[in-house]
Formats: sequence, C-alpha cells, structure tokens
Amino acid sequence: MKKNRPMGIVRSVADRFSESLMDQRVLALDLVCRGFCEYYREGLGGEDQCAGFAAVVRGVEIGTISVGNLRQLVGIVPGPARRSSFLVDRLCRNCSYLADGCDYMAPVPVRGSSPCGGYRLLLGLLEAESLTTEDLQTVF
Ligand code: SF4
Repeated sequence: MKKNRPMGIVRSVADRFSESLMDQRVLALDLVCRGFCEYYREGLGGEDQCAGFAAVVRGVEIGTISVGNLRQLVGIVPGPARRSSFLVDRLCRNCSYLADGCDYMAPVPVRGSSPCGGYRLLLGLLEAESLTTEDLQTVF
C-alpha cells in the first residue's frame, strides 16, 4: 500500500553525501526510500533485497553516483515512472522482490503501482543525462 509522497532529492540530503562515509546507508534511505519510494514507511526500507536500494548504495560506495549527480536532481519532484527496458533487464530481473514482492513488476502489474525508489532515482539520473546506461553497468 502506498504510504509516502516522494518529493525527490532535498539539497541538504544531497550535500550530506559528501560529508560522511559512515552514514551512507542512512543517507541512502533518505534519498532512495523517503525521496523516491511511494511504499516507504517509517521504520522500514533500506533493504538489500531491494535491488534498487542496493544499486544506489553500491553506486555511491564506488563513486559512480556522486554528489554532483545528485545535485542535478534537487528540486525535481518525481513524476510517473517510465518503463525502462534497461532498468527492467539489469535491475529488476535480479531483484529478490521480483517473484512476489513488487506490484510494479508483477506478471499482471497492479494498477497504479510504481517502481521502487532506487529504480526511480536511477531513472531520474538517466533522464537528466547525469549518468549513462554505460555508467550504471558498474552498480548492478
Ligand atoms: S521496481 Fe520492483 S523489481 Fe524492480 S528493483 Fe524495484 S523493487 Fe525490485
């Protein structure tokens, strides 16, 4: 059930990424789950089984996703997510939630469902031409 109204990236959250390596997962929770996931509920989220979350954490850890990339999305409220064959093939097909935990990728998608925050954040970076599909090969 949708619980969250994602507002995208807030500048203060993007800026914190460059300040602390220790809090990356907490910051990723703010970014991916609070910022981009309609299903996020306080106390949940940030699970490695969610390939979208894990990909963003990895992207930040290895430097593929930089604070500069994130700043390009500041103030952009995420709209309806486009179906990306690249993200479906590289991200969703390897996600633990694909089998029975993702309404968006269900064999018969649930009406009105949306992808997870990680999918939407990565899609935002691609659509802003902040990163390319080639760049993102490193995060899966
Ligand atoms: S949209 Fe669904 S299947 Fe795809 S990465 Fe997100 S949770 Fe997993």
